Amino acid sequence: MTRTVAPRRTLPLFLLVAALAVVSCSPANPEPDRSTAATPGGTAAPGPADGTAVKAGSTPGVGSTPGVQAAPRFRGSVVAGRGAVRERVRYSWRRGCPVGPVELRLLRVDHWGLDGRVHRGELIVHRDHARRILVVLEKLFKASYPIQRLRLVDAYRADDDRSMAANNTSGFNCRRVSGSSRWSEHAFGRAIDLNPLRNPYVTRGGRVSPPAGRPYADRARRAAGMIHGGDAVVRAFAAAGWRWGGYWSGSRDYQHFSASGR
Ligand SMILES: [Zn+2]
Repeated sequence: MTRTVAPRRTLPLFLLVAALAVVSCSPANPEPDRSTAATPGGTAAPGPADGTAVKAGSTPGVGSTPGVQAAPRFRGSVVAGRGAVRERVRYSWRRGCPVGPVELRLLRVDHWGLDGRVHRGELIVHRDHARRILVVLEKLFKASYPIQRLRLVDAYRADDDRSMAANNTSGFNCRRVSGSSRWSEHAFGRAIDLNPLRNPYVTRGGRVSPPAGRPYADRARRAAGMIHGGDAVVRAFAAAGWRWGGYWSGSRDYQHFSASGR
């Protein structure tokens, strides 16, 4: 079968001039919009995030750049109402715990996810620390620090291993220190574990918890959500008087921040 050859046409002069004008107006090295490179997901593979993204992803901190969407504003509050906490600690609290539900507060806040989008999360801490932790979470938001999940540990039936394996960030949980009869600081609502899979607990002997966090026991690594000494996360907590478990000697708890330093 023979193909018919389309007759060669000469480009009209005015079109040629127009095309040249367009080319000369383009930047010498047109690049795709680079704003996405600065999203909090960083270089890590985006992970699934719980909850619904409450705002479309946009680059925080570039609101003044023409053509770029304004940075989302942080929204967060200490939820009022006596029942707010009680009905959310069915698994994580029981009689005999060192603090009661009435002493705890529910925070509901915006946070960046690993997907570069803004999500709404929840956290329970002691009432004495609620306001200052709200300030910390606002700082983390403004620093574009991503938190993959921010769900109450009751979503995992208060099972810390499950919560950690899901890289879930949590605060209050009435439990003992692992391998001890002593109450954990989490049982007082004065400790928070942040992105625990990417900031595992590493014992002096090299045991890593959660086990799937082993790649992140290498702290020279840089991945979204990892905490490093002196970074914006450590500084935000330090300003609230909370200290980081990554500074411990011997065993190190890279996910752990607490008011007592324990
Ligand atoms: Zn902890």
